[in-house]
This record gives sequence, structure tokens and C-alpha cells, in this order.
Amino acid sequence: MAVQLGAEEKMLIDMVRDLVRERVAPRAAEVDATGEFPWDIKDLLAQQDILAMPFPEEYGGLGSSEVTILMVIEELARACATTSLILCVQQLGALPILLAGTDDQKRQWIPRLATGEWLAAYALTEPGSGSDAAAMRTRAVRDGDHYVLNGLKHFITNAGIAHVNTVFAITDPNAGVRGITAFVVEDGTPGFHLGKVENKMGIRGSQTGELVFEDCHVPVANRLGKDGDGFKIAMSTLDRTRPGIAAQALGIAQGALDFAVAYSKQRVQFKRPIGDNQGIQFMLADMEIQTEAARQLVYHAGEMIDQGAPDFGHYSAIAKTFASDTAIDVTNDAIQVLGGYGYMKEFPVERMMRDAKITQIYEGTNQIQRIVIARNLQKRQS
Ligand SMILES: Cc1cc2nc3c(=O)[nH]c(=O)nc-3n(C[C@H](O)[C@H](O)[C@H](O)COP(=O)(O)OP(=O)(O)OC[C@H]3O[C@@H](n4cnc5c(N)ncnc54)[C@H](O)[C@@H]3O)c2cc1C
Repeated sequence: MAVQLGAEEKMLIDMVRDLVRERVAPRAAEVDATGEFPWDIKDLLAQQDILAMPFPEEYGGLGSSEVTILMVIEELARACATTSLILCVQQLGALPILLAGTDDQKRQWIPRLATGEWLAAYALTEPGSGSDAAAMRTRAVRDGDHYVLNGLKHFITNAGIAHVNTVFAITDPNAGVRGITAFVVEDGTPGFHLGKVENKMGIRGSQTGELVFEDCHVPVANRLGKDGDGFKIAMSTLDRTRPGIAAQALGIAQGALDFAVAYSKQRVQFKRPIGDNQGIQFMLADMEIQTEAARQLVYHAGEMIDQGAPDFGHYSAIAKTFASDTAIDVTNDAIQVLGGYGYMKEFPVERMMRDAKITQIYEGTNQIQRIVIARNLQKRQS
């Protein structure tokens, strides 16, 4: 590993590894089976200050480097993707406030996100606008010292359980992407409620649902940045958080590989461990090659963010695409190494494959990432 960590960061990663082994891994199958948000695990992450990592010290956070955050997400995802998503989305939902909020706004919301008392959500997607986020229809109309929001967001992680919801809505329908504005809508605001909750293939302990806005009055003081800044805020946020999804994918791949290697050493067929066969060894080697390559891309993207490199978004997109494709390939092969047992819920690799799939879809599908990467290439040559 090329990345250099300080002594405190190394201790933190070791602490997370122990915590995952003792407290997170034993809950993972149950969280998947029940499909219920694991409040006990959220509390555990909060108590251990893991949810404080993405926030600056002046607002009650740990001010961790992006690379350290990515390593922690990876460790969590090795055992439970749902758990890793709690940290990912705490950063995703809060980043618009950190990027565009005033000092007062940060003091209002960040400290209780850093302690984990509150959860965050990021509400961009709508039924008619996924990859084409700018096609959203949720409206925000200024009325004195409030905006009145009407519309529907869907597929929102932490819908109904987040206190701080970053919501993107149209304030000027004639201005295209410059007509979108970002707001913080707090849980309990009249006219704002949870709609349908989704029943999903993977990350089943994470609550995904609709957010409904019906004449919802949001104070002007909750607007992030100026009218029309919303799309830029939304995209700059995703540029910074995609490596988190890449780290989640990396952790899932590593967890599946660890399990496959251990299984290949103890499963005996034809009077010897299956791992003694070159056919299985080559599969394990290819899984390791892909996973290690993904790790280098993920950490590199984190380092670019930490260094404030101007083109870090390019490397975020590369890391997210490669790591999520790797997670699918490696979990698929892990099931193959386990044979029929891999297909059974008794073993974790089938859950890992289901969890891996979402990493190719959310925070921009891998088709959209490839568009981002190709456009950057073309821009470099123009
Ligand atoms: C479990 C889950 C959690 C989520 N959490 C959140 C959240 O917290 N906040 C939030 O705002 N959103 C969230 N999303 C939404 C997610 O980001 C979108 O689902 C995703 O961006 C894709 O949008 P879509 O589902 O509408 O697919 P579509 O945009 O309809 O895409 C369908 C297919 O067409 C492809 N496609 C679309 N346009 C192009 C193109 N120009 N070129 C080539 N291919 C293209 C896509 O890659 C995809 O394969 C979540 C989704 C899921 C499933």
C-alpha cells in the first residue's frame, strides 16, 4: 500500500477492524434478512466517533483525511455493506452544507451530525430524473421569508430516518441547470413526509424511500448558497463522495475474496482441498489482482481529494467504475468457488453479490461515470 498513514490513523483503522469482527460481522446476515435499519450499529458508529470522521474539528468532527475515511468504509463493507453505507451517506447528505453553507448553517446542523445524533440524507433523484438529474420537477417558490416546496424525491437513502435532508428543487424553470437550488429540510417540517419505502435486492438494512413535499414551507435561512447554485453543489458533492462508494465496493470484494480463500483451503473434493487445483488458484489470483488494482485507484482518488487536485472528479469516476465492476466480478467468482454452498444464504457471499450490484448504480451509474471520464479526456485535448 503506497498511502502513508499517521500513527493515530493506523490505530483508528485497527480499532475499526476489531469492531467489525466483534460487533458488525455477527449482525450482517440478520440485518440483511430483516431488512431493518440497524439502529444499534448506527449507535455503535456514533459512540466510536466513526460518524464524526467527515466533519471539521471546529464543528465537532474528527477532521479525518478522505483516505482514512475510505479505509474505514472499506473495513466496514468487508463485513456489512449496509453498515458502510451509514458512514457514506452521513458524508453525502452533509457535504452540501460543508461546501456551500454559511458558518451559521454549519453550526446549526453539523455538530449533531458529527455526534451521530442526527442522520443525513441527500435528495436529488426523482421518478422521472435519475441519470438526467437536471430534469427534476420538484419546485421551490419563494414566498416572503420562506420557499414553498412541492414534489417528490425517490430512491433516497435514509428517507424517513434522516433529520437533515439536503433537497434539490427548481427555483427558475427557465434557467436549466442554473435554475436549481439546494435546501436543508429538517425532519418534522410541515408538508414534508416519508412516502413509499422500497423493498430491495441488496443493502437491505439501509432504508430507501420517497420524500414527499406538499406545500412544504422551508425558511430562506435553510437555502444553501444562492438561488441557482444547487446543481453545482449537487455535482461537486458527488465528485467527492463517489470514492466512498468505490471503497464500499472494494470492501465487499475483499470480504468475498477472504471468504473464498478460506473456503478453498478447507473444502475437500477428489480427496484434496479444492484450492490445490490450479483452476481454483487462477480464479483466486484474478480476484486478488482486480481487488488490489481497485484499492490503488480508490486510495489514489482519496489522495487527490485530500490534496485538492483540480481534476479529482475524473479519478473519483474511474475509481467508482473500476471498484464496482470488480465487486460484481469478485463476488460472482466467490460464489463459484463455493459451488452450491455459495448460492445458499447460510454463507455470506450471495449477500455480498447482491450488495455489490448497487455500487454500479447509485451516485451515478457506471455508464454515466464513463461519460464523465470520456468528456474529461476530450476536454484535456481541446
Ligand atoms: C438503493 C438505492 C439508493 C439510492 N440512494 C439515493 C440517494 O440517497 N439520493 C439520491 O438522490 N438518489 C439515490 N439513488 C438514485 C440513483 O442515484 C439512481 O437510481 C441512479 O442515478 C440511476 O438513475 P435511474 O435509476 O433513474 O436510472 P436511469 O437514469 O433511468 O438509467 C437507466 C439505464 O440507462 C442508462 N443511461 C441513462 N442515461 C444514459 C446515457 N446518456 N448514456 C448511456 N446510458 C444511459 C443508465 O446507466 C442505466 O443503465 C439511489 C438508488 C438506489 C437504487
